[in-house]
Amino acid sequence: MTIADDAVPSSAIPRIDLHRHLDGNLRLETCLELAHKHGVSLPKEDLAALKPHLQMLEPGPDLPAFLEKVERMASVLGDVDACRRVAYENVQDAARERLHYVELRFSPAFMASAHGLPLETVVEAVVDGVVAGREDFPVQVQLIGILSRTFGPDSAKKELESLLSHKKAIAALDLIFPASPSRSSSETFSMRGKLCSWRAARAATTSAHSPMGSIRRASSPTSSWSCSRPSRSL
Ligand SMILES: [Zn+2]
Repeated sequence: MTIADDAVPSSAIPRIDLHRHLDGNLRLETCLELAHKHGVSLPKEDLAALKPHLQMLEPGPDLPAFLEKVERMASVLGDVDACRRVAYENVQDAARERLHYVELRFSPAFMASAHGLPLETVVEAVVDGVVAGREDFPVQVQLIGILSRTFGPDSAKKELESLLSHKKAIAALDLIFPASPSRSSSETFSMRGKLCSWRAARAATTSAHSPMGSIRRASSPTSSWSCSRPSRSL
C-alpha cells in the first residue's frame, strides 16, 4: 500500500497516545457502511447529522450519555471482517494523525456483544488488523486487551482465554470495574512475565465504568489494582 506523504510522522518530538479505545474509535463512514451491510439502524443516514449521535462533540451530561454513543457505534460490528477493518483503520488513522506510538485497547466482549460474535475470532480479527496496519503504516502500535467485569466474571474469563490465545500480540491487560458492591473476589493473571493481581473486597467504587474505559486505581481503600514482576516464574 502506498503511504501518503502526510501520513509519515515528521516531528522530532514523538507524538504518543497511551489510551485509545480501538472499539470506540470508528470512522463515521465506516459506521454507515457497516450498518448498511449488517442491517443495523442508525439515527441518521447523513454523515454530518450522524456525527453527534456517535461522537462527543462537547462535554456530555454524564457517563451513560457517552456510553450510549459508543455502544451505538459498536453495534455495527456485525462480523469479524468488521472487527478486522476497524482495527486496521485505527492504525491508519494513528499514522495520519502523525502519532509515533499508540496503545490501542479493546474489549473482545464489547465488540462481540451486539451480534454474538465468538470472542476468540474477534481477538484474532483485531490482531490481524493491527498487524496488517503495522506493516502498512509508520506508527508503533501496542495492543491492550480489556477484561470487562461489566459482562460478569464468566465473560471476563472467556475474554482472558481468548486474549491469552493471542498473547504474543497482546502487550498488556486492562481490568475494568465496577465490581458489584457486594462481590468479593481475588483474581490473578499472568502475562508476559508480569504478575497482575486484582483484588476487590466489597469494593463500592465510586467511578462507574464500562467496557469503554479503564480504571487503574480503585477509589475504595479496600480495593487495589497493581502490576508487579513475579518473584518466581509462573
Ligand atoms: Zn479508557
